[in-house]
Amino acid sequence: MLRKSSRIDGMALSEIVAISEAAARLRASGHDVLALSTGEPDFPTPPHVRKAATLAMQNGVTRYMPTSGMPALRKAVADAAGVAPAHVIVSTGAKQVLANMFLATLDPGDEVVVPAPCWSSYFDMVALAGGETVKLRCGAEAGFKMTPEQLEAAITPRTRWLLLNSPSNPTGAVYTAAELAALGAVLKRHPHVWIASDEIYDLICYAPFTSFRQACPELADRTMLINGVSKAHAMTGWRIGWGIAPPTLIDAMTAVQGQVTSGACSIAQAAAVAAVTGDMQHIDDRRDAFRARRDYVVDALNAIPGIDCPVPDGAFYVFPSCAGVLGHKTPDGTVLETDADFCGHVLASAGLAIVPGRAFGLPGHFRLSYAYARSDLEEGCARLQRAVADLTPN
Ligand code: PMP
Repeated sequence: MLRKSSRIDGMALSEIVAISEAAARLRASGHDVLALSTGEPDFPTPPHVRKAATLAMQNGVTRYMPTSGMPALRKAVADAAGVAPAHVIVSTGAKQVLANMFLATLDPGDEVVVPAPCWSSYFDMVALAGGETVKLRCGAEAGFKMTPEQLEAAITPRTRWLLLNSPSNPTGAVYTAAELAALGAVLKRHPHVWIASDEIYDLICYAPFTSFRQACPELADRTMLINGVSKAHAMTGWRIGWGIAPPTLIDAMTAVQGQVTSGACSIAQAAAVAAVTGDMQHIDDRRDAFRARRDYVVDALNAIPGIDCPVPDGAFYVFPSCAGVLGHKTPDGTVLETDADFCGHVLASAGLAIVPGRAFGLPGHFRLSYAYARSDLEEGCARLQRAVADLTPN
């Protein structure tokens, strides 16, 4: 019998993974299942990026890199941000940047303030590092955004980090420059709190985007910016992300990374240099494509009685409320009590995989990713419509 460490005790399989696996099982048993559950662009990695990887392999860029990253990539990221390369760490995806950051800074009992709904991995990564998440409920009525008053009330002497994500996964909410500055004014009064700003969707934004560093430059000496190539450059499998922060923090994270991975893949880093310094036309084209998909999905979902879908300003997710159908009955008489019941019904009755809002810390909603072909989105919305039409008020 395996005795698991207390560190991972209670760490569940991510609900997003669980849904995808349930969909795969149904598919394997012959069911027609469509998944709109994954946060991954359907576009291919741009050709000039793939070519850079091929060249890197041919030219022998196949050895260990410096732990904190390939110098050319650190420099490219640093130049774009207007900092020196010592402020940059390259890791195996933005996910590892966050993991390094928490492992390097959290002690048991330390608190991380997180506006929710948010990406579900934040909760588990904080727990893995021994910290505690302080979740702040930011509902649809607040545009899924935290207010300065909420932040002020949440800060304690144990608060180490405020973790922001704009544009947000799962809501697509985007903080304006004024909203960030108002949060910054609170943070100025609490110099022990550092700010982690996860901006991985910055280039997939349909409203003006402001980086936390731009909005609050006076807080740069305690700000960590997280980004990477996964989403904007359709490079999820290459596993390259980076953090931009004061060198003291970068050094501490490099110490962690040195013992865990020794750094990111050399070939993928060479490809990321091409992505960051190369032609960006595909970014604009794909943003336009995502915006058209968003508009289609929002309209189609709002046409379904009981579903209420706010218009997201960024990323490639919608986060509608399903509160209007909770309490309703399925044809076999089951009453749908929760968002998870609703998503279970949609999967079982219509073969559509979507993720319950509770996975992101806000029940009563679900997340649907529109990083899929238009034909899949049309089929998905039709399936959702059928699944809702099956229900009767209790
Ligand atoms: N942050 C957010 C908000 C995300 O949604 C994701 C991917 N789902 C990541 C970070 C991690 O991205 P990466 O592929 O670079 O690890």
